[in-house]
Amino acid sequence: MQKQEIYDQILRRNQAWVAQALSLDPAYFQKMGADQAPFILYFGCSDSRIPIHSLTGTAVGDIFIHRNVANQFRPDDPSAYATLEYALTVLKIRQVVVCGHESCGGIQGAIQDTTLPHVSRWIAPIVALRKENAGMLDALGSLSEKQTCLAKLNIHQQIDTIRKSDIYQSLSDAEKPQLHGWFFEITTGKLTVID
Ligand SMILES: [Zn+2]
Repeated sequence: MQKQEIYDQILRRNQAWVAQALSLDPAYFQKMGADQAPFILYFGCSDSRIPIHSLTGTAVGDIFIHRNVANQFRPDDPSAYATLEYALTVLKIRQVVVCGHESCGGIQGAIQDTTLPHVSRWIAPIVALRKENAGMLDALGSLSEKQTCLAKLNIHQQIDTIRKSDIYQSLSDAEKPQLHGWFFEITTGKLTVID
C-alpha cells in the first residue's frame, strides 16, 4: 500500500469510528467534551507496540498520558513537569505510573551508544545510568537481558525523579500520589510491577 493510501485510509477510519460511536450513543462526543476526570497519570515510551488502554482495560478519559523515547521524566523537561503539575494539582490524580518495556529502542541506543545525535542527547541520562551499573549489566549475556535490566533501572530512576520534584514535594501526604513502576513485556502482553 502506498503511503498516501495508508494516510487516506486513516482519515476514512476516523469517519467510520465517529459514525459507530454515535450509533451506540448519540451524545457520546458531547459528554466527552464536557470534562475529563482521569484517575491515572501514565509516563510511557513512544513505542508503537504499547496499547495502554487495551492492556489495562481502561477507557477513553481514564488515563492522562505523557510519552517520550524511553519513558523519561527528566528534570530539564518542561513538558513532563507541566504534565505532572496539571495532573496532580488540577486533575487531582492520585496514581502515577512509569511504564518501561521489553525491546525498548531508546534503551538499546543507550547500551549500544547510538550515533543519532538527537536521540543520543535525549537518552544521555540512561547512558549515565548504564555506566553506573556497568558491573551488573556486563554480567548479563544477551542484549535482550541487558535491555530488560537497564529498562527496569530506568523506571526506578524516573520514579525517584518524580518523588524528588518540587511538584510532588509541595503536596501534603494526603495529596501525594502513589508512585508505581510497570514493565510491559511486548512478547507476552503482561505487565510486571516494579517495586
Ligand atoms: Zn521504548
